[in-house]
Amino acid sequence: MADQPDAGFDVVVLGGGSGGYACALRAAQLGLSVALVEKDKLGGTCLHRGCIPTKALLHAGEVADTARDGHEFGIKSSLDGVDMSGVNSYLDGVVSRLYKGLQGLIKSRGITVVEGAGRLVAPHRVEVDGQGYDGRNVVLASGSYTKSLRGLPIDGERVLSSEDALRLDYVPERAIVLGGGVIGVEFASAWTSLGSRVTILEALPRLVPAEDDASSKALERAFRKRKIAFKTGTPFKGLDKTASGVSVTTESGETLEADVLLVAVGRGPATEGLGFEGQGIEMDRGFVLVDERLRTKVEGVYAVGDIVPGQQLAHRGFQQGVFVAEQVAGLNPTPIDEAGIPRVTYCEPEVASVGLNEEQAVREYGADSVESLTYDLGGNGKSQILRTQGFIKLVRRTDGPVVGVHMVGTRVGELIGEAQLIYNWEAYPDDVAPLVHMHPTQNEALGEAHLALAGKPLHAHS
Ligand SMILES: Cc1cc2nc3c(=O)[nH]c(=O)nc-3n(C[C@H](O)[C@H](O)[C@H](O)COP(=O)(O)OP(=O)(O)OC[C@H]3O[C@@H](n4cnc5c(N)ncnc54)[C@H](O)[C@@H]3O)c2cc1C
Repeated sequence: MADQPDAGFDVVVLGGGSGGYACALRAAQLGLSVALVEKDKLGGTCLHRGCIPTKALLHAGEVADTARDGHEFGIKSSLDGVDMSGVNSYLDGVVSRLYKGLQGLIKSRGITVVEGAGRLVAPHRVEVDGQGYDGRNVVLASGSYTKSLRGLPIDGERVLSSEDALRLDYVPERAIVLGGGVIGVEFASAWTSLGSRVTILEALPRLVPAEDDASSKALERAFRKRKIAFKTGTPFKGLDKTASGVSVTTESGETLEADVLLVAVGRGPATEGLGFEGQGIEMDRGFVLVDERLRTKVEGVYAVGDIVPGQQLAHRGFQQGVFVAEQVAGLNPTPIDEAGIPRVTYCEPEVASVGLNEEQAVREYGADSVESLTYDLGGNGKSQILRTQGFIKLVRRTDGPVVGVHMVGTRVGELIGEAQLIYNWEAYPDDVAPLVHMHPTQNEALGEAHLALAGKPLHAHS
């Protein structure tokens, strides 16, 4: 609890997730006094029930796949089974080490942590348990929650949110995943690796619909090979609970049975009842509206993270939090280009992208002013070693910079670092082509794609 509950702060942050704690850390680093209000655990969704535990679950699945598929590499191994309590204690271990580290970091920066649920009771005052915390600046960062569909209540037992799914002490034999976006395909992938039979239902015409069309197609091909069933263009109609699980009907009249249904249809802003609207903050369906400097309509009140319309990603929250801290410290940071925020879907194979997809680029610049090139990972040594298929697709403005990079394949998420430099530094293919990429790496494929787009393909047919 805070030592001086009524003290005025330079910054009061409401919510200690990725966006809020990053803002608090940077503001304190810049010499500002900071109060960070958190009702649950510092680190928020990403650390405790999002990015970190799901990636650990996916890694456990990868270990299972490696054991199961050893024979493909001449290794005598087999998968004897999955001990979910062991998997869960591995996940918990990762989370708790990071949580401890984060708590230490927050403490070391001299941030006042206020434990409890906060509410905006005046434009510059957050109240927690009847005590007010005044800030010269207030940063709203209350995050998001799992949305469901009308008539589909999440019960935590058979109808699960992603948070419930991370708490299961068993591997469901059959699972239906409602939603083929990032969270849906990640769970479908992890559960399949751990032995479930999964069917994904997606109302839109393709999996990962926010990605380039080619990425969706490649992922669908890979999922078919992995025997992950999916039905796209198939809206959910209704659910019955059965003696052994759930029975789901679709708008197309099909009925599917499974032990559990995971609801992964998106996340809504956690802003209800927090008093934002009452203080004059402009909202849209629960989201907080801000300008490009993350300012709300109320002077000195900012918003960051999942409550701000846009991509709900932890590193976007970090970046926005840092931006606001620098803004209030008077550093005049450069506004964040949303398209320049890299995106990775950590299923197997991974899907990664930055910038515009081809359709968006065509819409923005016109069909005659956009070119694309696809480099198949079939020509990349390391990808062959890993036995992965996929591609790197570059989208550029004709005679201009690369405006989009799209990748599919095992581990390609690790390549997004270079891809985001290329996009954000507005590099031309000719700028990237002379850069040397190590052999044999998958990173080389990014170099090869730029060589080809610059008109000098090496390991590719011209
Ligand atoms: C299953 C899953 C997997 C994900 N995987 C990834 C990934 O791999 N990579 C990625 O970039 N993103 C991922 N995300 C998204 C990422 O977790 C979010 O984008 C990120 O956590 C948003 O940060 P935030 O600070 O806006 O909100 P949150 O992390 O949700 O934090 C908000 C905090 O505010 C607190 N709070 C809310 N109301 C109050 C109140 N009234 N008083 C006090 N405290 C309050 C909450 O307790 C919470 O701690 C994933 C999300 C999920 C659900």
